[in-house]
Amino acid sequence: MAMIIQDTTIKNPLGKTGLVSKSLCDLVINPAMGCPHGCSFCYVPSTPIIRMNGSAFRKSGVEDAMADWGSYLFYRENTVEALRETLSRKRTWPQTLSGRGVVMMSSTTDPFINKRIGLMTEGCVTLLLEANRRVRILTRSPSWMRLPETVELMQDPNLSLGMSIPTLDDDLSRQLEPKAPRPSDRLRAMKFAHSQGIRTYVAIAPTVPMMDKEGFKRLLSELMLFNPEVMFWEPINARGSNGDRMMQAGIDWAASVRDRKTWAENFERQWGELRTAAEDLGVLERIHPWLDSALIKEGKLVEEVHYWKSRPTVEKWPNLVLPEN
Ligand code: SF4
Repeated sequence: MAMIIQDTTIKNPLGKTGLVSKSLCDLVINPAMGCPHGCSFCYVPSTPIIRMNGSAFRKSGVEDAMADWGSYLFYRENTVEALRETLSRKRTWPQTLSGRGVVMMSSTTDPFINKRIGLMTEGCVTLLLEANRRVRILTRSPSWMRLPETVELMQDPNLSLGMSIPTLDDDLSRQLEPKAPRPSDRLRAMKFAHSQGIRTYVAIAPTVPMMDKEGFKRLLSELMLFNPEVMFWEPINARGSNGDRMMQAGIDWAASVRDRKTWAENFERQWGELRTAAEDLGVLERIHPWLDSALIKEGKLVEEVHYWKSRPTVEKWPNLVLPEN
């Protein structure tokens, strides 16, 4: 299907988010809807913002917003101006224990997917830092390295930069996320970030069912080279249309994560192996798992799910006084 690209606008770019429970942030900014990386395992298309807006997408020419994930991109072209306007009026900010008042870019797109969005991200980050906000960037694209002003902005202690690096196997990545930059390039970018004095974190997400203790050890050893303050983790979860998309991509083991029982067993095993690997390397305190509450139904990791839900990360944010509401 040909790529559908359109411009839209947004009134208030600061959106509330369920990512508080993952201890990522309290608010998100998405300068676009849609993500041309189109990773097969992505479960953004099964989130309410996509799932509940089928007719709006159809009016814009997208027949099935879930199944066609990766083949549309709607720029929110006024994002920076709208954020400036919102900030000029904003007096109170949410600050939960786990969200820490952080604003994250982005959750339903990649904030550096192309130059246009990268510059919008740069504009938003500038405004947020001027307003003394804590900023988290999550991306799979190293393209920010080509934006010198962005690199300079990222050196602010109120900003943490993270990438999703679930594997270092470029061939496996081509199968799962063929349009995203290769993990080896992401790793290089994060090492560069560290060399520039930028605070870093990583999302080891999502890992494949074949991941074992030795695989985690190799991965963690490489990730530690850029000194991530926290390492989030989750395995591949089948949600909404991603099971179909993985099957269509010829990923034969996708059936095992679609079955709740084998998915939960695998989740439990991987968590145990990751913990042991991290313990062996002395980095366990940096591991922050995203334990899915659906595990409780399967009788797996019940206490741990409660323990980790909305638990603050070990990251050290500057001690700013933030107004709360
Ligand atoms: S980069 Fe993230 S948002 Fe984009 S398709 Fe991949 S998993 Fe989804």
